[in-house]
Amino acid sequence: MNAEKLLEQMHGLKSIFDEKESELTGLDREIGDGDHGVNMKRGFSAVNDKVSAGSTQDILKQTGMTLMSSIGGASGPLYGFSFVKMSEVAKEEIDGENLMEMLEVFDRTVAEKGKVEGGEKTMYDVISKSADLFREKGSLSLEDLQQLAEETKDMIATKGRAAYFKEKSKGTIDPGAQSAVYIIHALGEGVEK
Ligand code: ADP
Ligand code: MG
Repeated sequence: MNAEKLLEQMHGLKSIFDEKESELTGLDREIGDGDHGVNMKRGFSAVNDKVSAGSTQDILKQTGMTLMSSIGGASGPLYGFSFVKMSEVAKEEIDGENLMEMLEVFDRTVAEKGKVEGGEKTMYDVISKSADLFREKGSLSLEDLQQLAEETKDMIATKGRAAYFKEKSKGTIDPGAQSAVYIIHALGEGVEK
């Protein structure tokens, strides 16, 4: 993936999150405050408006800064900071090896900033398994990523607002796990091992 394609993917997330707004809001209404759909839509609408051509590093950094300043919820700084950190390792042509590096940085950044581990029913459950998925399958399909989000259904949330729901958080996919599916799919589209 070169810079031109990456920019197309980042801009393309605007239409994805326009389309998925009600799905994400519905999930966040179950175990949160119902704003995750609006947050993601607002964030990537700003990315579409503000992020313009440059190197892959510029594009990822601008995307991260824009997400940090336009998303109010817990997800804004986590996604925003992760894009900034991924920009630091991105190559001009993001190949399979480089994508793997970026996903590992994504994993470490969310783990540190969110003080989160696997199994806590968050976006981290999708992010942290995506590098392994890519290694195993050689590409990142929407179907395989969705499977990772589905696995959060039976988990009990122990981080963020969903943690207040305790046992009752069971039965719903975590909203951030669902949005992570779309973000990681966009980053990996067309990249193969
Ligand atoms: P808020 O919870 O402030 O309303 P959002 O609704 O936009 O923010 O985002 C909620 C999502 O953020 C959750 O579904 C979860 O995936 C993620 N999240 C919240 N806290 C953490 C954390 N400490 N570590 C990782 N992810 C988190
Ligand atoms: Mg919310």
